[in-house]
Amino acid sequence: MTDLSDLYQEVILDHNRRPRNFHSMDRANRRAEGFNPLCGDRLTVYLHVDGDVVREVSFEGSGCAISKASASLMTESLKGKSPAEAETIFQTFHDLVTGGGDGETATSDQLGKLVVFSGVRDYPVRVKCATLAWHTVMAALRNKQEVATTE
Ligand code: ZN
Repeated sequence: MTDLSDLYQEVILDHNRRPRNFHSMDRANRRAEGFNPLCGDRLTVYLHVDGDVVREVSFEGSGCAISKASASLMTESLKGKSPAEAETIFQTFHDLVTGGGDGETATSDQLGKLVVFSGVRDYPVRVKCATLAWHTVMAALRNKQEVATTE
């Protein structure tokens, strides 16, 4: 019998072992670096934004399983979205992992696979690992040059 949390765990481990879109990008027109000093997670996010569409997202870096899996799943969920949609997904994801906003109700439809991080809310120190890639991608979309941190 498979417990739901086991299933979620499995998705996170899989994305940690085989991160998707894990490479730099030559044709990136946005990029940002993120650092989570609490855990030592460090990553660079690359974006190819064409008009109002995120055509491609990739990342590289090193960090714990949560930060890597979160970045991997993020690249999948943002592809084809507009920067405004990305912002909405980030907000919903942030509420999910912090237990803020509407909590359980609104999230699962909008987040798809990202719901696997719902367990993170029970581990406050991990919230920064799970949101690092998102803070970084938001910095890239807003075209900020400085290094994004979770602090
Ligand atoms: Zn971490």
